[in-house]
Amino acid sequence: SGPAVAELVAGRVLDVPDFPKPGIVFKDLMPLFADGAVFREVVDGIIAHHGRESFDVVAGIEARGFVVAAAIAYATGVGVVPVRKAGKLPRATHSASYALEYGEATLEVHQDAFTAGHRVLVVDDVLATGGTAGATLDLVERAGGTVSGFTVLLELAFLGGRERLAPRPVHALLTV
Ligand code: AMP
Repeated sequence: SGPAVAELVAGRVLDVPDFPKPGIVFKDLMPLFADGAVFREVVDGIIAHHGRESFDVVAGIEARGFVVAAAIAYATGVGVVPVRKAGKLPRATHSASYALEYGEATLEVHQDAFTAGHRVLVVDDVLATGGTAGATLDLVERAGGTVSGFTVLLELAFLGGRERLAPRPVHALLTV
């Protein structure tokens, strides 16, 4: 089912040139989310890859990661934790900043988001440079979770995110 799911992702991603700025090809996965049968196959594929007994909670990265994380959580009966952009979470947070091409971004998670030792499956839509994912995996661990896996629907291999995150493993449904 790995290759079959990869084909499903490949058939439901739109390349949007020069968004959000010139030179960037934005990978738009809204068509995948909008197709109920494909979305279910994709979510089930992620769960099957990791094994439904391998995690205690799912963490999603704002904003498109929330969509996938919530579906995995519902399907497996675990909870979901949002990892958010700075300034959105109302209580005490851990925060992690990382470099963007220009400037800096900050992600936050509530300090009490995870039960100590709980195994956390982290999900996002696209892996590019790995800055977002690296900050998130650090946050999960600082908040007391243990990262049990990291999955994206789509990996842009030429940007080196997998190497940046090493030795932590990356699971991508489709790598281009
Ligand atoms: P990065 O930190 O460079 O790995 O970027 C990953 C984050 O930015 C993810 O949350 C993605 O949703 C988003 N992202 C980065 N590049 C793209 C792209 N080309 N298309 C769609 N989303 C992207």
